[in-house]
Amino acid sequence: SLSDRLGNVFDSLRGRGALKEDDVRAAMREVRIALLEADVALPVVRRFIDKVTEAAIGTEVLRSVTPGQQVVKIVNDALVEMLGGEDGDGAAAAKLDLEAKPPVVIMMVGLQGSGKTTSTAKIAKRLKETEGKKVMMASLDVNRPAAQEQLAVLGEQAGVATLPIIAGQQPVDIANRAISAAKLQSFDVLMLDTAGRLHVDEALMAEMKAVASVSAPKEVLLVVDSLTGQDAVNVAQSFTGEVPLTGVVLTRMDGDARGGAALSMRAVTGKPIKFAGTGEKLDAIEPFVPSRVANRILGMGDIVSMVEKAAASVKEEDAERLAKKMAAGKFDLDDLRMQLQQMTKMGGLGMIAQMMPGMKKAKQAMQSSGMDDRVLLRMDAIISSMTPKERANPALLNAKRKKRVAAGSGTQVQDVNKVLKMHQEMSKAMKQIKKMGGLKGLGALFG
Ligand code: GDP
Ligand code: MG
Repeated sequence: SLSDRLGNVFDSLRGRGALKEDDVRAAMREVRIALLEADVALPVVRRFIDKVTEAAIGTEVLRSVTPGQQVVKIVNDALVEMLGGEDGDGAAAAKLDLEAKPPVVIMMVGLQGSGKTTSTAKIAKRLKETEGKKVMMASLDVNRPAAQEQLAVLGEQAGVATLPIIAGQQPVDIANRAISAAKLQSFDVLMLDTAGRLHVDEALMAEMKAVASVSAPKEVLLVVDSLTGQDAVNVAQSFTGEVPLTGVVLTRMDGDARGGAALSMRAVTGKPIKFAGTGEKLDAIEPFVPSRVANRILGMGDIVSMVEKAAASVKEEDAERLAKKMAAGKFDLDDLRMQLQQMTKMGGLGMIAQMMPGMKKAKQAMQSSGMDDRVLLRMDAIISSMTPKERANPALLNAKRKKRVAAGSGTQVQDVNKVLKMHQEMSKAMKQIKKMGGLKGLGALFG
């Protein structure tokens, strides 16, 4: 598995300080193979590896964490982001958008056997039970014998209404009839379960387009079987651009130990994965939670949460250290660097000034020294090129030392001067904030 493979590589990472390029690249070679083995599509793997490599090289390894553990966390975060990101603690990032005049139409598309009909009933049941929606389902599958009856049976099991079957009617006519019936009977949501084929073909696409154009669906969900790996990617590619997809339902996640299809699907369609099917029963569906699937792909959840805890405690220590220094009227270049890093994380200069009235002066000082968000990174590089002694005592930086720092950070002496000027201005501003009794607010900023 991925975790076995990576465990060895990550254990071989040594040393302290920033992650080194050679180590990162060696680890990424293994990640790459592991992702390919998990059936993630090649272009997706490439994109992923590039992104993680860039994020990892030069990252400071946290105290109390090994370099390998730090890389695991970086890989995990990139997986979560690529799977759709996180909306709060473990919450699903993607929800159905049902904000429209009822009946709101949800159209289900996909190949035969992918799990469209089952997923239609599962989602209908969920909308009814968790959101109190009045839902009607209609099967437009006239190709497969008994397909419409299958939906009627599931409807009965789920306690969800289905459109009465009229033999011989074509998909577009059924869609129109369903819309009229749903309007007449004041349904909130109408779910259209469409026909599939064994392979994507023109007739299928034409039918999907015609149905979409008469029913104006608010959601078009592509249902794909997560066990079909590379095939699922091809299917997603064929549907994308032909019908206005709004999301993906990944079925058979109960049988997919690797979760690789999820990663590909999101990247290929550009649409969020909204649900994961986890079994045959009508309750076996879950909102798609990127962190959970990332954990499944990587299999290193324990390490990830350990690094998160370490990061939180370092942040706390840093905040305490800074508060103490400020109370003593000290603010050195290490503190400035820590602040720059925090600022970058929090969304840059504009955000800071908005959040903290007391920081207005500091922001003005930064702007007057020609500073913008891009410069934050350069300043960080400059301070990193100084010795710990210089950082603690900026007065040491004479012309010769400044030249060395400029060369080390790939900048000019005037840039080094800007950093020093900014440090002076900020020290002044800090003292003022202290006088104004704003230390508490500042503590919140670093906490
Ligand atoms: P359709 O042809 O796309 O409408 O596919 P169906 O909904 O008829 O599903 C085909 C088969 O897959 C049925 O036997 C379902 O019970 C099964 N199935 C659907 N979703 C899941 C899932 O998430 N997990 C498992 N294990 N089976 C599923
Ligand atoms: Mg079906």
